[in-house]
Amino acid sequence: MDNLGLLHLKSGSANANNTDDNDFDRKLTRIAESAAQNDTLGLFALAEGKLAVMVTAKGNGSGRRPKRPKNAELVAELKCRVEDGIAAWYLAPRSQRLQVNGHRPYPLARLEPGMLLSIGSDFWLVAKVWQPQPRPAPEELADRCCPVCGAKLSIAPVVQCGGPDCGRWTHYERPDEPDGEFLNCFLATDTCPDCDQPVMAEATLVPEPHDKLLTTASDEHW
Ligand SMILES: [Zn+2]
Ligand SMILES: [Zn+2]
Repeated sequence: MDNLGLLHLKSGSANANNTDDNDFDRKLTRIAESAAQNDTLGLFALAEGKLAVMVTAKGNGSGRRPKRPKNAELVAELKCRVEDGIAAWYLAPRSQRLQVNGHRPYPLARLEPGMLLSIGSDFWLVAKVWQPQPRPAPEELADRCCPVCGAKLSIAPVVQCGGPDCGRWTHYERPDEPDGEFLNCFLATDTCPDCDQPVMAEATLVPEPHDKLLTTASDEHW
């Protein structure tokens, strides 16, 4: 399942430039990765431009009473649906203050990486949290060759580049041994030669927010 997160863009503080690659967790509200299909999640606006996401209704009907954070406004409800093996998140607005890409959203909107949510003067970028996970080569790709070492993909675990719509598959045998004698072809370049997505073993955001985007949301001179 796509693990989506909401990255707070308006930090309003001196750290706006501090966008170390692994620093995003501080500003990221993850959409619960443990949520089951058809669970309903509430997106709550807390004080100080913070968001909280929590399960408000179980999809299987098992009913604990929905909880909600204190002094928080429910701005939207989120639901995950899996269609043809592809998971998608949908958003239903519950507050007049919520905008998606600068407009009042439709009663139901599909949440996609790259969208911009706003509540008042706060902005969040919808981004996919992506971490390369090695897996056996899918059957239809088994005979394809790795673009780095030239050997068949089927001879070792592989990973698909996390770039949007990128179809580059490379060997990724041992993430825990990046310097060992393994087929870690995925790590051979700093960026993907096909889509320029930075190559990292750690979790990254897709799309990767440009430094400029992180600072401009609160900057009048751009
Ligand atoms: Zn290879
Ligand atoms: Zn790529």
